[in-house]
Amino acid sequence: MRLRNISGSRERIAQSPLVVHEPEKLRGRWQRRFGNAHPLRIEIGMGKGKFIHELAARNPGVNYIGIEKYSSVLLRALEKMDELPLSNLLFIRMDAEEITEVFGEGEVDRIYLNFSDPWPKERHARRRLPSAEFLARYERILKRGGVLEFKTDNKALFDFALGELPGAGWAIRALTFDLHHDGQMKTDNVTTEYEEKFSSQGNPIYKYVINRQH
Ligand code: SAM
Repeated sequence: MRLRNISGSRERIAQSPLVVHEPEKLRGRWQRRFGNAHPLRIEIGMGKGKFIHELAARNPGVNYIGIEKYSSVLLRALEKMDELPLSNLLFIRMDAEEITEVFGEGEVDRIYLNFSDPWPKERHARRRLPSAEFLARYERILKRGGVLEFKTDNKALFDFALGELPGAGWAIRALTFDLHHDGQMKTDNVTTEYEEKFSSQGNPIYKYVINRQH
């Protein structure tokens, strides 16, 4: 998701107390930043932030961080916080490639990937957020038994993501090829902006829930 460059978005983000500007300085110390010992859950590539804002509102006993690469998109998530401020939600503008510099070993309880960019060209496969390269990074920051949830309407990306799992130290806990018609997995499903758009066009939504084995 790349909105047109919104003038002043970088400056507005630079001034926002909701955006953590040197996140690597808080590596291993995020609970202190939130001022409590609640578990930490992150969404990587959150876009305009509907999903993580709704999750944070529903679960005040969990800390959340939304990660997004582009200022123009992150700005939309900040606007949601103007409408409904939440003390358990912060944001970072960064490329997820640097995730292990920002979170310490085992510091994260759960990671969400929603409608990640597909990067269809083979030479860009390493940029796909559910790729083996990224899974190795997630494994370092997730606590033992920590969970990764991934959903998408892109069948090719989902097949690729499933193909990355064998031998990578993850166990599949739940899997569906049609989330919105899966009696169990649709319970408590929080939709994202992309999910609403694509499911309204009749696309099935694919989802896996996996957890760290080691
Ligand atoms: N998760 C949202 C949803 O489901 O509505 C947005 C989906 S959008 C297709 C993917 C988002 O991930 C974009 O906003 C993009 O900028 C962001 N993104 C892609 N690669 C990223 C990366 N390496 N680090 C951080 N954000 C990334």
